[in-house]
Amino acid sequence: MLFGRTALLFVWGLAQLVLGTEDYYKVLGLNKQATEKQIKSAYRQLSKKYHPDKNPGDDTAHDKFVEVSEAYEALSDAETRRIYDQYGHEGLKQHKQQGGGGFHAHDPFDVFSRFFGGGGHFGQQQRRGQNLEVKVSIALRDFYNGRTTEFEWNKQQICEACDGTGAADGKVETCRACNGNGARVVRHQLAPGMFQQVQMQCDECGGTGRTVKHRCPHCQGNRVVRKSTPVSLTVQRGMADGTRVVYENEADAHPDYVAGDLIVTLVEKEPSLDSDNPDHVDGVFFRRKGDDLYWREVLSLREALFGDWTRNLTHLDGHIVRLGRKEGEVVQHGQVETVEGEGMPIWHEDGESVYHKTQFGKLYVEYTVVLPDQLEAGFRKELKGVFDKYRKKKGVDLHKDSGRPEKPVMSDEGREHEEL
Ligand SMILES: [Zn+2]
Ligand SMILES: [Zn+2]
Repeated sequence: MLFGRTALLFVWGLAQLVLGTEDYYKVLGLNKQATEKQIKSAYRQLSKKYHPDKNPGDDTAHDKFVEVSEAYEALSDAETRRIYDQYGHEGLKQHKQQGGGGFHAHDPFDVFSRFFGGGGHFGQQQRRGQNLEVKVSIALRDFYNGRTTEFEWNKQQICEACDGTGAADGKVETCRACNGNGARVVRHQLAPGMFQQVQMQCDECGGTGRTVKHRCPHCQGNRVVRKSTPVSLTVQRGMADGTRVVYENEADAHPDYVAGDLIVTLVEKEPSLDSDNPDHVDGVFFRRKGDDLYWREVLSLREALFGDWTRNLTHLDGHIVRLGRKEGEVVQHGQVETVEGEGMPIWHEDGESVYHKTQFGKLYVEYTVVLPDQLEAGFRKELKGVFDKYRKKKGVDLHKDSGRPEKPVMSDEGREHEEL
């Protein structure tokens, strides 16, 4: 325990009076129960939003940027977070004065660059790593219901053991062969008195301009390591197949450049009964086109002809869509029924506001009428009898009424052509 009870009370009073600093959780838009991941995610978003490079000349943004960095630094470390939770700002201050590890109150740009693996700034002057594209397959139900999921990828990260220096002791020296330029000028004699100057990569330091005596055993002096890194992915309701989600500066990290963007493309997964249908919903077999859904429903001859049937279709979120016809309502084979409001939720860039929460595309139900393979002889006879009886009364003869001629017609010209 760091402080006695009386000291604690005193400290609290002081913190309120003197500092008046904003609560770290509030700064990050979180509460005390926030997980490590939420803290990271909040910092990721806010630090980019308020970064001075993105808000030139905006002092408020600059102050916010500093605040956010400070809050993140305090809350991202388990020990300092615990101290902050118990003793607040003043507790942290004392902890720092006592030389407590973990909390250094860094330059906010430093915090930013360590987090994103870059130089602390955005912009062209900075070298930038390549963007990286990944495809993540998402089940249709997740496009419909929305889902926050996580995937892992093998990300290049700055080696934590050596802090990206590549040296076991953290000591990096300027390469003596090239004076840190990474390149050397070599003079070739082409002919007596004629020289050519060629710039070559320094072979002592491999063009980096730096040497280390003791390589970091963790990264073998490479300054970076690859490791499986989880990424949280939020699929919003109704997002389109092929949506690209951009994670700024979260591609491979390297101490010498700002990481490129990680670009995730959401691809609709082929439906599979085994893995994607824990709730046994019919919707797995919906097909999606934009905001609309398509479904094929099978009817027997009797149902198609006489009506008086119902079907309960379990939608992607488990709610029931009822299809049906009253007695006497005929359904044609191939007929398409449009059910309004039972398609995909219509995605909106502003998120799920009250205005479009209830907007959905259409569901198209296509009916397939299946005739029996065989009719039992007695049944066929009776059925045919009924048909014949009614045809005589008021039926139409398709052969006559179609307007087609009784016999094949062949014109004289046609015949001549045939003979040729
Ligand atoms: Zn060199
Ligand atoms: Zn290392």
